Amino acid sequence: MNPPIIVTIDGPAGTGKSSAASELAQRLGFDMLDTGAMYRAVALLSIELAIDPRDEHALAVAMDCARLAVDFSSRPPAIRLNSRDVHERIRDADVTGIVSLIASHHEVRVRLVRAQRDVAAQHERLVTEGRDQGSVVFPDATVRIWLDARPEVRAHRRSEELRSRGEVVNEARVLAEIIARDASDRGRAEGPLRKPVGADSIDTSTLSFATVVEELERLVRRRLHESDIGCGCGGGA
Ligand code: C5P
Repeated sequence: MNPPIIVTIDGPAGTGKSSAASELAQRLGFDMLDTGAMYRAVALLSIELAIDPRDEHALAVAMDCARLAVDFSSRPPAIRLNSRDVHERIRDADVTGIVSLIASHHEVRVRLVRAQRDVAAQHERLVTEGRDQGSVVFPDATVRIWLDARPEVRAHRRSEELRSRGEVVNEARVLAEIIARDASDRGRAEGPLRKPVGADSIDTSTLSFATVVEELERLVRRRLHESDIGCGCGGGA
């Protein structure tokens, strides 16, 4: 049996992590886990059950009663809350507005970190992206990557993404929200946003999406080759 391989990609909002991780996983023949979607699903749960997002205990109880699942039968994997596909709904502004507060709670993080490790135990080849994947959840991952970009670039990309969904966008406000969310993600006590020790960094500010994916693929293949693992996924190192 091949040894399990985990590739972590962490970084702030709007670096294109999810799309790049999804494309990278497809090229390598790996599965992909979007851990931000899991935190977003908990934020949606709090909205739908009218739970105060500051009420850590009530959130924990609600999580224990809910069924939160990642469905790997669709690509990209769908996030299901009580069997309902909430992949689109969790991108809405009301969810984005409270997700960082939700993610600051110890009881929430404990449950989602456990769920993420359970997913990894079931997938021999996994690209997982988020804020704490290489630093906290999988510190021994085979390859750990940090993606970053200037805040203005990230705000522009996020705005374009929202426009493509037909939303009217105030880019200055998107920038302010991104800066506030980064500060909250960086400042929390548990699982803070930070570059994992020893991670490889890519600044995507001036890179096209295609170039980011190519750089990621080259980097992962090189690291796997160096660690004598290879990935059984074709191509050179
Ligand atoms: O990546 P995305 O923007 O969907 O993440 C939403 C939020 O979920 C982040 O701003 C962060 O607060 C939280 N998050 C986290 N840890 C992760 C992934 C996401 O705290 N591993």
